[in-house]
Amino acid sequence: MTVLAVAEHRRGELRDVSFELVTAGRELADEHGTDLAVAIIGGDVDGFAEELDREGVDAIYTVAEGEEFNHGVYTQAIEQLHAELAPRALLLPNSVNGLDYGPAVAGSLGLPLVTDVIGLKGDEPVEITREQYGGKVETTYDVDSEQYVLTIRPAEWPVAEEPGDASIEAFEADIDASALGSTVNGFEEVAGGDVDITEADVLVSVGRGIEEEENIPLIEALADALGATLSSSRPIVDNGWLPQNRQVGQSGKVVTPDVYIAIGISGAVQHVAGMKGADTIVAINTDPNAPIYDIADYGIVDDLFEVVPALIEDFGGAAP
Ligand code: FAD
Repeated sequence: MTVLAVAEHRRGELRDVSFELVTAGRELADEHGTDLAVAIIGGDVDGFAEELDREGVDAIYTVAEGEEFNHGVYTQAIEQLHAELAPRALLLPNSVNGLDYGPAVAGSLGLPLVTDVIGLKGDEPVEITREQYGGKVETTYDVDSEQYVLTIRPAEWPVAEEPGDASIEAFEADIDASALGSTVNGFEEVAGGDVDITEADVLVSVGRGIEEEENIPLIEALADALGATLSSSRPIVDNGWLPQNRQVGQSGKVVTPDVYIAIGISGAVQHVAGMKGADTIVAINTDPNAPIYDIADYGIVDDLFEVVPALIEDFGGAAP
């Protein structure tokens, strides 16, 4: 018996969630008393396999099919791996890709699926925890099935860092091209689409306190001065002032930077759901009772239009 985790890559690089899946998968494998296997599908599978060889992984299966993500290829390859390994649990990333092929795989295998998992216990029955209502409620599910599928929320488990000594084996998937349904011809980045706020070490995040689109360059200048990446709360995206890939929160991205600077952001539960995992949170807000101060490590209760230009100057930048 094994626990099987499926790693994720994009544009030639493994995503952090792959190494978080190793940690979560090892935890579950220990509780089930099984091995942990990791599968990697497409792209530079040999290079990825070497990187994925972290402590706790027993076996790595490489599936050399295609370069980037393709729904049909992933679905078929994972179904075949599942038939071969008969894993107790199948762990997938709760990412755009994982949520694309996960339900299809679970449906076709006739297995229960729990998405966006933030906690697991391999007891009998298996206990799975997920958040609901933007983090206001945690729900625990008993999964009473010999085999099951989970999608694991990024940034909930630490990245597995220590090197391991897993076996690496090529798995020959028999992909039926006529059943793929779609082919991927290539990717075209939309404007600003090259920025991945989930990978940033320092995020400067702007909220409705900025008042007008014309003021956004002020926050951009601070981000530049700090060598940080710009992100935002939802109203900024809803207003069309920044693209959707900059939005932090329940309906945006979950981020875990070393430092998160929230400027003119109140700290609504849907926003906090996306950034509470930051190591250090700094808030700049005129309202001392703003909920963001409940989770901030440092706060500046003052007008952002006074504070931000001063910070830009301190850090050697140029205010617009
Ligand atoms: P506000 O709540 O309006 O806060 C603005 C803050 O700026 C205030 O605290 C104010 O004191 C401060 N301020 C004003 N002027 C200044 C100044 N001059 N200097 C300093 N501070 C100042 N929101 C998200 O962010 N991400 C999501 O993914 C998300 N998903 C959602 C999903 C659902 C289903 C729903 C219902 C809502 C969602 N929201 C999300 C919206 C969320 O509920 C809040 O409305 C939103 O986060 C508020 O954004 P904000 O903090 O920028 O604005």
